[in-house]
Amino acid sequence: MSSSPQVLVVGGGPGGAAAAFWLARHGVDVTVVEKRRYPREKACGDGLTPRAVRQLIDMGFDFDRPDVHRVVGLRSYAGDVMLEMPWPEHSIYPNWGATLRRADLDGRVAALAEAEGASVLQGVEAVAVVDDRDLTAVELRRKGEEPEVVTPDYVVVADGSLSRFGRDLGAHRRRDYPFGLAVRGYWESPNSTDGYIESQLDIRDREGRAMPGYGWVFPMGDGTINVGAGLVSTFKGWKDINTSRILEAYLASLPGHWQIEKDPIARPIGGKLPMAFSVGPKTGRNWVLVGDAAGAVNPFNGEGIDYAYETGRLAAGFIAGALATGDPATLGAYDEALVAEYAAYHRVARIFVSAIGNPSVMRTLTTVGLRSRPLMEWVLKVMANLLEPEERGMAESVYGAIEKVVDLPGLRRIKA
Ligand SMILES: Cc1cc2nc3c(=O)[nH]c(=O)nc-3n(C[C@H](O)[C@H](O)[C@H](O)COP(=O)(O)OP(=O)(O)OC[C@H]3O[C@@H](n4cnc5c(N)ncnc54)[C@H](O)[C@@H]3O)c2cc1C
Repeated sequence: MSSSPQVLVVGGGPGGAAAAFWLARHGVDVTVVEKRRYPREKACGDGLTPRAVRQLIDMGFDFDRPDVHRVVGLRSYAGDVMLEMPWPEHSIYPNWGATLRRADLDGRVAALAEAEGASVLQGVEAVAVVDDRDLTAVELRRKGEEPEVVTPDYVVVADGSLSRFGRDLGAHRRRDYPFGLAVRGYWESPNSTDGYIESQLDIRDREGRAMPGYGWVFPMGDGTINVGAGLVSTFKGWKDINTSRILEAYLASLPGHWQIEKDPIARPIGGKLPMAFSVGPKTGRNWVLVGDAAGAVNPFNGEGIDYAYETGRLAAGFIAGALATGDPATLGAYDEALVAEYAAYHRVARIFVSAIGNPSVMRTLTTVGLRSRPLMEWVLKVMANLLEPEERGMAESVYGAIEKVVDLPGLRRIKA
C-alpha cells in the first residue's frame, strides 16, 4: 500500500466487507485487509435469513446465480413433533431466505465492496500498534515480507469471534452474557434442494437422555447439506459436553428424508458465537468494533452474518460522518445507535436463552409450543427479528410477556 487509507478495515468477512462497501459508497478511501485468501472456509451453517438477504440485496448481490439455494421457511422438530413455517410476509424483508457456502459468499461480497471503490488486500494480517491502550498505527504483515506500518484516520475491527485485534485495544467479553459454541460439516444428500431449513430442538443420547443443545440441517441445493449442532453457555451442563458429541447424537437420529451416508464430505469444523453485543467497549478514539468482534450474534437463533452486515453498515455511516465533520466524537453515536436498535431485543433474548437452559422449560416450550402453529409462527418472527417497525411498540410489551413466562423462580437474574 503506497499510503495510509482514510479507513482501514481489519478482516474481510461479512462485517468487514459490508463496512468497506458502505464506506466506499460514502466516498471514503477504504482498504480491507484479510489475512487469508478467498475462497476461505468459515465454520458456519451457511444460512441467510430474510434480514441477511435484505442487506445483500442492498449491496447488489446476485441471488439468481445457480449456487444460491433459496429457502421458503423453517421446519422445526422437537423429538417427533414437527412444524413447517414459511418465512413471514414483511414490508422490508423478503419472504425467503437462502443458503450459500461461506467459502463462496464472503469473497463475492468483498468483490462487491471492491467494485464500489474499496481496496481489498488478501493474505495480509493486521496487528494493532498500541500505546497505553491508544491505537497509534497498524502493522500490515505479508508472508515473507517486511511489515508495513500504516496510520489510517479510523479502523474498523471486523476480525471475527476471537478478535485478537480488538482484544489488543482493550475490548473484552462480558462473562455474564451468553455465548454459543457450534460445529458443522457437509454431507451428500439426494434431498439437498429441499425448500426448508430444518432445526431439532430436542437432542437425545443413545440412552434417550436429553442433551443440552440443538441441531440443524441447511440444504445447500448442490447435492450437499450442511449439518450442524450447537449449544449456548446458559444451557445446564454445557461445560460437560462438547459440540461434536451433540452433532454425533443428532446425526444418529436425523430425519430419514435426508438419506445421508455415515461419513461427511470433509471433517466437521467448529467455532464460537459471541452473543448479545457482549464485547466492548465498541468504540475508541479512532476505531469501532463490528460483527462477531462486537459480539453481535443474535442469541435467539445463532444468526451472525446479518448482524455483521448491519453493524458494518452502521459503523460506516458514523465513520463517514466523523470524517466529514472532522469530529471523532461522532463515533460515540455508533454505540448509542446499537443500543437504540438492539438493546431491548437482546435483553429479552438473554432472558430467553437463560430460561431454555433449564431443561424443563425447554421441554415445555418445544412440546407445547410446536403443537401451536400461531404461537410458533409468532416465535419464528421474534427469533429471526422480523417484526414490522410498527410492531416494535407491541414487541416491547410482548417481550415483557415473554419475560414473565420464562422468568421462572430460581432463574438467574439478567443484568440490563
Ligand atoms: C458453526 C457455526 C455455524 C454458524 N451458522 C450461522 C448461520 O447459519 N447463519 C448466520 O447468520 N450465522 C451463523 N454463524 C455465525 C457467523 O458465522 C458469524 O456471526 C459471522 O461469520 C460473523 O462475521 P464477521 O465478519 O464478524 O466475522 P468472520 O466471518 O469471522 O470474519 C472475520 C475475518 O477476519 C479475518 N481476520 C481475523 N484476524 C485478522 C487480522 N488480524 N488481519 C486480517 N484479517 C483478519 C479472518 O480471516 C476472517 O476472514 C455460525 C457460526 C458458527 C461457528
